[in-house]
Amino acid sequence: MASSEIIPGIHVVRGKFAGEFGFIASYLVVDSGEVLVLDPGTAGDPGDRLEKAIRNLGLDPKNDVVGILCTHGHPDHAAGAGRLKRATGAPILIHQDDAELLQTPAKFLNERLMMDKAERFSMKFDKGPLRVNYRGVEADELITHGQNVPVGETNLKVIHTGGHSAGHCAFYDATSKSLFSGDEVNNFPNDSRKFYVDNTGSIVSKLAALDVLSKLGADYLFPSHDTPHLFADVRLQFEAARDGVVHLQDTLLTLLSARGEADVEQLVFDMKQARSVPIPESYDALVTTTTYVTLMGLKEAGLIRELGNGIWTKVG
Ligand SMILES: [Zn+2]
Repeated sequence: MASSEIIPGIHVVRGKFAGEFGFIASYLVVDSGEVLVLDPGTAGDPGDRLEKAIRNLGLDPKNDVVGILCTHGHPDHAAGAGRLKRATGAPILIHQDDAELLQTPAKFLNERLMMDKAERFSMKFDKGPLRVNYRGVEADELITHGQNVPVGETNLKVIHTGGHSAGHCAFYDATSKSLFSGDEVNNFPNDSRKFYVDNTGSIVSKLAALDVLSKLGADYLFPSHDTPHLFADVRLQFEAARDGVVHLQDTLLTLLSARGEADVEQLVFDMKQARSVPIPESYDALVTTTTYVTLMGLKEAGLIRELGNGIWTKVG
């Protein structure tokens, strides 16, 4: 079985389990003999199992794929776009704020994450889902907030969320009440409070997006690294995601109160000691970057200020 149908017309093709990331879920939206692929995954995972799944549905990968739609440009979601385009001829769609990343994957390490040289070096050879040693590709269509992406009679509305990364979008089918949330809601199985953002992301945008998405009235939530959530469980996911963000903000404010002043590295160290952080543990760069972007959000809110040299302190 290459894919499984969750509700009529929506199929999931799951990548391999990869440690703390869980797996990457690619979705196929099928209507009237057409198929739209959401998030083709890494350069090789799910890889050609996507075409297999399409063939198993009685469709032709070369003729029936109308688009490759990316929630955002991170390597675990969009690295497979170039390969799938060559296999299907279908256009790649992504928001313009993540299109450059799609074209130049090395930007993920060089610009999107805060890391030192040693970490950057080791990540270059990483075999994990965040590796960037694949060929970039140009987007065919830049999607914008509010537009519809059609497949057969179905229309997916683009909701630019911009919290997880500047160009992150979610997609909503109002007819089946299905929301594809990418990495904006619930990144990781078993703990939906866990989250991360890259350097272009924003905690303010993330909280605003969670509010907007939670009010759509979705019956089905299809996240990128987790199993689908149905009905009453959908609401809980938004609450958990919001709790995760607020918990990190509170933790940082508490630590800054206790220490008086601290830099990002110190705060990350303290949070690891306390083991209370709802963000991933396996990649230091993700934790550091998420912490930094969260500090920037607290600064915007007037709760903390930077003393210079990356040292932060509470206001008042
Ligand atoms: Zn991501």
